[in-house]
Amino acid sequence: MSAHILVVEDEKPIREMIAFGLRRGGYEVSEAADTSRARSCIADKRPDLILVDWMLPDMSGLELTRLLKRDKETRDVPVIMLTARADEHDKVTGLDSGADDYITKPFSPRELLARIAAVLRRAAPGHDEEIIQLNGLKLDGSSHRVTVADRVVSLGPTEYRLLSFFMTHTERVYSRSQLLDRVWGGNVYVEERTVDVHIRRLRKALEEFGVDQYIQTVRGSGYRFSTKPE
Ligand code: CA
Repeated sequence: MSAHILVVEDEKPIREMIAFGLRRGGYEVSEAADTSRARSCIADKRPDLILVDWMLPDMSGLELTRLLKRDKETRDVPVIMLTARADEHDKVTGLDSGADDYITKPFSPRELLARIAAVLRRAAPGHDEEIIQLNGLKLDGSSHRVTVADRVVSLGPTEYRLLSFFMTHTERVYSRSQLLDRVWGGNVYVEERTVDVHIRRLRKALEEFGVDQYIQTVRGSGYRFSTKPE
């Protein structure tokens, strides 16, 4: 079954060009010209991935992403932000909103398909079905659920992948580029600062359970997962 992608873009020629490329790439595509239509599309049929333009007439793509990531019905749907702004600050803000990736316009249909495939691969459930338990932190590979003392830790797909990698590779330091390679699957388009953004989000999610200190920064080298004190 082909994945269903929702394209939210107000500029009709761009939206149609993207939709055309995606359909040719074998995806099922829905289109929305603004965020209110996007939300009714999502309510009708939950997409497998959403492409959201940054600049939209009724609400920004950023705000839409925040809303989707706050709602438990849509939290796990990966979002790729389309942006005309190449500015680094904006990219990081985009990722902070909960977007899983961003693409700067103009982009080629080939690049778009590669990025979509990578994000869908990352979000796909269950490569490893095992349960890993470390100092009260429990990761269940079959349900993709992380719990601490039976309380569920709410994580986005990328944070889950990151934590899953760390919990299976403890006590070792990984550089940002190693993490990109292992967790993001060697996606050449993602910048190293993306790692910091997701680490920050992962720590924030773990913080209320008092286990954020397991994600340790190793100055000048990268990150390590350790249940021992730094
Ligand atoms: Ca636009």
